[in-house]
Amino acid sequence: MHPGHRLRLAANVLNGSTLAGIVVASAGGARLRPAGDGLLVGSGYQLPVPRAAAFCLGNVLVTRLDHAAFTSSTRVFAHEARHATQYACCGGLVMLPLYGIAAAVSWALTGDFGSRNVFEQRAGLADGGYTSLGISGRSCAEVSSHPSGSTSGRSPVLPGQGPRRASG
Ligand SMILES: [Zn+2]
Repeated sequence: MHPGHRLRLAANVLNGSTLAGIVVASAGGARLRPAGDGLLVGSGYQLPVPRAAAFCLGNVLVTRLDHAAFTSSTRVFAHEARHATQYACCGGLVMLPLYGIAAAVSWALTGDFGSRNVFEQRAGLADGGYTSLGISGRSCAEVSSHPSGSTSGRSPVLPGQGPRRASG
């Protein structure tokens, strides 16, 4: 295991965020399996909240998808794994209120919880299915093929990733 991943694993065990992830995944009926780099994937999550198709708590990546579908979505997987690193950097579950503030700031600026959210930006907006929006709420890329509101209204409760677009 890469030393950085070993450090992330140790940090998220000690700060309790991975334990929280195991509890939430289990409560949602997810099946936990190792996914490399010290990460666990909890697949088949069934609770209605958070609404995201995938989210991260400590070293646990929780998803509504099945294990194979999620782990083969390499960009989404990498995005959620970066959130796991963010938990380690933030000292654990204190990331949740910080994420909430960042999501609120993003929403106030753009009407979208992720576009200007520093946690989502650093995890990779495109990998997480987010669109980079300007202050006006219009796509920075001026791309009109996907409505800019497609990721709006998502619960900002947990760092996660919204329903994937048809284009992937
Ligand atoms: Zn994310």
